[in-house]
Amino acid sequence: MELLRRPNGTEDILPSVSRDWQVLEGMLRETADSFGFSEMRIPTFEQTELFERGVGETTDVVQKEMYAVVAGNDRFTLRPEGTAGTIRAILQNGMLNEALPLRVYYILSCFRHEKPQAGRLREFHQFGVEMIGSPQPSADAEVISLAGRILERLGVKNTQLHINSIGCPTCRKAYHTALKAYFEPHRAELCETCQERLNKNPMRLLDCKDPGCQAVNRDAPVIIDYLCESCSEHFEKLKADLTMLGIDYTVDPKIVRGLDYYTKTVFEFVTTDIGAQGTVCGGGRYDGLIGQLGGPETPALGFGMGLERLLLTLRNQGMTLSQPQGCDLYLVPMGDAAADLCLQLTAALRKEGIAAQTDVMGRSLRAQMKYADKIGARFTAVIGDNELEQGEAALKNMQSGEKLTVKLDDSFTERFSAIEIADRLSKD
Ligand code: ATP
Ligand code: MG
Repeated sequence: MELLRRPNGTEDILPSVSRDWQVLEGMLRETADSFGFSEMRIPTFEQTELFERGVGETTDVVQKEMYAVVAGNDRFTLRPEGTAGTIRAILQNGMLNEALPLRVYYILSCFRHEKPQAGRLREFHQFGVEMIGSPQPSADAEVISLAGRILERLGVKNTQLHINSIGCPTCRKAYHTALKAYFEPHRAELCETCQERLNKNPMRLLDCKDPGCQAVNRDAPVIIDYLCESCSEHFEKLKADLTMLGIDYTVDPKIVRGLDYYTKTVFEFVTTDIGAQGTVCGGGRYDGLIGQLGGPETPALGFGMGLERLLLTLRNQGMTLSQPQGCDLYLVPMGDAAADLCLQLTAALRKEGIAAQTDVMGRSLRAQMKYADKIGARFTAVIGDNELEQGEAALKNMQSGEKLTVKLDDSFTERFSAIEIADRLSKD
């Protein structure tokens, strides 16, 4: 029968790499904790309307990339990002009544029907944070510094922070007029979607991946020249804060970001080491979103970090996050009575935190030794009739070949631990 294959753009995370994920996730949690952020877990799917209202009806994500879930008469969609669901949950659970700012983070999978390629998947994972309640540039600086701290702790090299301000509805009025005036004469050169967007939301054109649109975009006016006084002040203070914190940045007036909810600060951490999809982290301020979702007007900001892109970057830079799972002791039974004893010893060893294994395949001595070698067992002990009779077995250090006789009684676990620790110390 033909084997079934996973859907395009999805990945199987195999044991050989799942340890990297665990180390990465542990590090993300620890760093987020140290910045005062707590974890939120939200549903994998939400009402479609949440993303239409939250992410924006003229965005690529909503127009082209959503996975709709059909179930009865309900319209649900697999989350394409984490912010809309997180804000929905914060509002639904009355969390805005708690002490502000709220600081939450999440690690979750996102679903977007995009063209799969290196660094672009249909199911991918994000670490994201949201800080709710502060309009101050210092909040932006903190959120950016959290992303920066994570990259620093992971030892990611060659990443650059790009920042921009895309203003507020006040400054956007004049900017939209300027954009429309610029794009109108180029209408015929734009993709169909952008021709439509031109009237509804001209800023979306700047984010289009179509090569024709990108060519036109090159000389388009930039929002930073249209900022109102308050947005401009906010941006200047943020830059001063980043400098004060020793965080290097480049102002990139071309960043607009793919989701509609952003206001004022937007930023990206970009690497040149993983090809065209080099944005490992993207975020910004979204002062209008909570109001748009039916909550009280509340300033907020956050970012999403693409974990596959992060791991790809580390891999391409020759970094390793984790060691393969080891085996401290492999017990090699010869015969049924020995097999019973090995099973018991293995259980006792594990209770003391020792990674012990024994044969469950009914293999020959030779085949067992070969297996112990393959899994990288540090010690082995053959237990057969002789060993049972004498009540002791030879513990073999697989690296040095050295053998030590150990009693097969209640002291076995303790004796093994001592030998194992001594071996570890001799190597350090
Ligand atoms: P891009 O411009 O690369 O499409 P985006 O602006 O759509 O990114 P966001 O919605 O801001 O991305 O998501 C935050 C982060 O999630 C991105 O910076 C990236 O690291 C990651 N990401 C986004 N889409 C994908 C995808 N299809 N596959 C893998 N990672 C992704
Ligand atoms: Mg995208």
